[in-house]
Amino acid sequence: MNFLEERIMKDGIVKEGNVLKVDSFLNHQMDIRLFDEMGAEWKRRFADKPINKILTIEASGIGIACVAARHFDVPVVFAKKSKSINIEGDMYVAEVESFTHKCKNQVIVSKKFLNPEDHVLIIDDFLANGCALQGLISIITEAGATVEGIGIAVEKGFQVGGRMIRNLGFQLESLAIVDAMDASTGEITFREQ
Ligand code: 5GP
Repeated sequence: MNFLEERIMKDGIVKEGNVLKVDSFLNHQMDIRLFDEMGAEWKRRFADKPINKILTIEASGIGIACVAARHFDVPVVFAKKSKSINIEGDMYVAEVESFTHKCKNQVIVSKKFLNPEDHVLIIDDFLANGCALQGLISIITEAGATVEGIGIAVEKGFQVGGRMIRNLGFQLESLAIVDAMDASTGEITFREQ
């Protein structure tokens, strides 16, 4: 088991509705030493890629992306969630359905901060059905920039997102892949990597 899988076993809580709660170390209270280890691992896995920018999505991706960015020595851009329909023309826009909140959000990135010269690493905390990632990929594509890879902390391997993203040909590096979890027993099964 790697360091993140061990931490999930120790402090993760399996909830009804296929939700894994990791808010004591990942997305509410944040363990920065753990984030630093995650950043180092992504740097190792993407060592051969010419990454010059990290893109994430608010809110829970931001902390992880910022700590990871220290290992790549690049700036972080985060897609902002916006309810507004009147978005000005200087923004890239994508529609994203939230798995946990069951609502649709527009996510926006200013055209100032993504351009065709950018080689982007996407970072996020969770991958479930892949809606958040699809939105970020479409924004990068619209900017004419290149997706160099995707780093995810926890992939829920029993949902469709991981397979879909790998089938599209992207290098997806999930530090923990949960293949099964049971809310009644609390049991979590990780995919062998
Ligand atoms: P997707 O767009 O891949 O369906 O879902 C990704 C987003 O949903 C993540 O950014 C994360 O915020 C949230 N999410 C999905 N599944 C879980 C989960 O089991 N636990 C938590 N805490 N968040 C999740």
